[in-house]
Amino acid sequence: MDGRTCVITGSARGIGRGIAEYLGAEGANVVINYRSSEGDAHDAVDAIEDAGGSAVTAQADVSDREAVEHMREVCLEAFGPADVLVNNAGITADQQFTEMSREDWDRVMDVNLGGMFNCTQTFYDDIWNAEEGRLINISSVVGKQGNFGQANYAAAKSGMFGFTRTIALELAQGGSTANCVAPGFTATDMVETVPEHVLERIISSVPLERLAEVEDIAAVVRFLASEDSSYVTGEVIDVNGGMDL
Ligand code: NAD
Repeated sequence: MDGRTCVITGSARGIGRGIAEYLGAEGANVVINYRSSEGDAHDAVDAIEDAGGSAVTAQADVSDREAVEHMREVCLEAFGPADVLVNNAGITADQQFTEMSREDWDRVMDVNLGGMFNCTQTFYDDIWNAEEGRLINISSVVGKQGNFGQANYAAAKSGMFGFTRTIALELAQGGSTANCVAPGFTATDMVETVPEHVLERIISSVPLERLAEVEDIAAVVRFLASEDSSYVTGEVIDVNGGMDL
């Protein structure tokens, strides 16, 4: 990953932070994007620098196109054009469908799909022009299986699959790739909102009998971000402990 510039959305904490630290430790230049967790974003930069890597913070709500364009300016100024974009920022707003408000539907679409649209279009030329450019979208097992109370989130995460396959076709002539990673349930703040009894049921449905750690996801993203994955494009890589076996 030496010298490759990687922009990771929502990387002040959780899976995004894990990806950022993993890529940073391998020599990547990392742009830590955050919406409001400024302190955590600076901690992430410190952690990467302490490990000998390079990183900067870039504040942007991914659902705001102008803010995303500003993030690209920050990236250009610090490191030059991006080689790798990881669309990781995501939110949930869970509710059984009959009770789900249109507002919660729109909010989840705006961040999870709208954010992916804004970031991918803003960094598209950078990825196209890069030697071995990479687009990596963080979807979810929920996009494949559905999940009670998550009609909005499941629809958004499924939407990422079709988007990724299409962009993979459009990027292919330039020699760059686009892939999805679909994590299973991962030990982060997002899962902390899941009630204990539901979590126990989830873990009992995982053949490997545990939640994913952020490093499990980051290691697969690292493979996709590197030149090792040159001939892999338009794929969804499941990292879910065997949940769909
Ligand atoms: P998290 O809530 O811990 O982190 C999400 C990050 O995205 C946070 O840093 C948050 O501030 C950021 N973010 C949210 N909205 C944003 C916006 N509008 N603009 C910029 N940043 C924004 O969640 P996580 O578990 O680390 O999830 C990361 C990704 O992985 C998400 O896309 C999520 O859907 C996906 N995922 C998570 C799990 C899981 O079990 N945790 C499983 C499958 C997929």
